[in-house]
Amino acid sequence: MSEETYTLQGGGRAAQKLKGSPSGDDGYRGVWVFIEQVEGRAAPVSWELLGAGRELADSLEVELAGVILGSGVENLSDEAFAYGADVVYLADHPLLRDYRTLLYAKVLINLVRKYRPEVLLMGATSLGRDLAGVVATSLETGLTADCTELKIDTEKRLLEQTRPAFGGNVMATILCPKRRPQMATVRPRVFPLPPRRSGRKGRLIAESFELKEEEARVRILETIKEKGRSLYLDQAEVIVAGGRGVGSKENFELLKELAETIGGTLGASRAAVEAGWVPPEYQVGQTGTIVRPKVYFAIGISGAIQHLVGMQNSDIIVAINKDPEAPIFRIATYGIVGDLLEIVPALTSEFRRRLSRSTSEGISNA
Ligand SMILES: Cc1cc2nc3c(=O)[nH]c(=O)nc-3n(C[C@H](O)[C@H](O)[C@H](O)COP(=O)(O)OP(=O)(O)OC[C@H]3O[C@@H](n4cnc5c(N)ncnc54)[C@H](O)[C@@H]3O)c2cc1C
Repeated sequence: MSEETYTLQGGGRAAQKLKGSPSGDDGYRGVWVFIEQVEGRAAPVSWELLGAGRELADSLEVELAGVILGSGVENLSDEAFAYGADVVYLADHPLLRDYRTLLYAKVLINLVRKYRPEVLLMGATSLGRDLAGVVATSLETGLTADCTELKIDTEKRLLEQTRPAFGGNVMATILCPKRRPQMATVRPRVFPLPPRRSGRKGRLIAESFELKEEEARVRILETIKEKGRSLYLDQAEVIVAGGRGVGSKENFELLKELAETIGGTLGASRAAVEAGWVPPEYQVGQTGTIVRPKVYFAIGISGAIQHLVGMQNSDIIVAINKDPEAPIFRIATYGIVGDLLEIVPALTSEFRRRLSRSTSEGISNA
C-alpha cells in the first residue's frame, strides 16, 4: 500500500479563510471534540476522540474541549473532564433533546464562530456524519471522513488526517491548510478508550441559545427502538468472524455455536455477506464496522486490506485458514492452519468442556 498526501482546497467566500496564512494563526486555537449523546447517554466514540484529542492538544499546546448539546445533559460534562477535556462548552436547551440536524448545526456553528477552535473532531456515526457535513459546508471548511490516524504537524499547526483511499490501496494523508477549523470524523473503535480519571475537573462554559421549533424543519413523531438487537459489533469484546472459506450459510452455524459458547458476537467478511450467508450489519472492515475486541477469530478469511483495516487493532487475533500463506497470518497472534470444518467444532467442544469444568469447580468451591 502506498502513502499519498492531499490538500483540501477551499473556494468561495472567505468567512473561515486564513488570510494568506497556512499557519492557523488567525486566532483559531484549541482542539474540540463533539460529545455525541442520545437520551443523555454519550456515544463511546466521543470518549475515544477525547483520548486522541488529548494528544493533539498537547502537541499544539492548547486546551482540549468537549462540546455537549442536548437537554438535561450537564452531567455529561463530568464524564468529559474525566476522559481528558480541559473545558466543556454546553448548550442545554429543551429543543435539543432529540437530534435534529438544523438545530444542532446552528448551535455548533455559532459556538465555532465564537470560540474559533483550530480542530473539530466528531464520531463517524450516523449522527456525526450527518452533522459534520452540514457544519463543514456552512463554515466553508474541509472535512475528512473516516480517518484512521490523526497527527499534528506542530510547526504549521496542521492536522494530518490519514484515511484509506481508492478502495484501500492508498493511505491518503489529507491536509486543510487554508480553512479553519480542520474537521475530521473517526469511526468508533479506531482509537482506544482513554483512561477515565474520575474527579478530574475542568471549566464548564454554558452557552444559551434562542432556538425556535420551526427552525428544526422536522418533527419527531415517534422513535422506534430496534428490538432484540444484541449486535453491537463495535462494542463486542469477542468476535467470531467468518469469511468465504466458511462455504455456506449452514456452516456459519458452526461459528455461531462457537460464538455462543464463549460469549462472543458473530462477524463476517464482505465476501460472506455478499454470498448471503450473514446480514450486512455483521460485516467487519472498511465498508463495514471497525472493531477492537479483546479476541478476534478470523475463520476462513484471507486477510484482504479492506478487512484488515477493520480489525487489525484487536488485542488478540486467532486466524484459522487452510492456506499457510494467507495474509491474515501476518497479523495473527495465533494461527491455526487447517480445515475450519474440523477445527471450529473441535474448538467449541474444548471450550465447552473447560467452561463447564470451571463452572462446576466454581459451584463446588462455593
Ligand atoms: C472498496 C472496497 C471495500 C471493501 N470493504 C470490505 C470490508 O469492509 N470488509 C471486507 O471483509 N472486505 C471488504 N472488501 C472486499 C475485500 O477486498 C475482500 O474481497 C474480502 O475481504 C475477501 O473476503 P474473504 O477473506 O472472506 O474471502 P477470500 O479472500 O476468498 O478468502 C477466503 C479464505 O478462506 C480460506 N479457506 C477456504 N476454505 C477453507 C477451509 N475449509 N478451512 C479454512 N480456510 C479455508 C482460503 O484459504 C482463503 O484464505 C472491500 C473491497 C473493496 C474493493
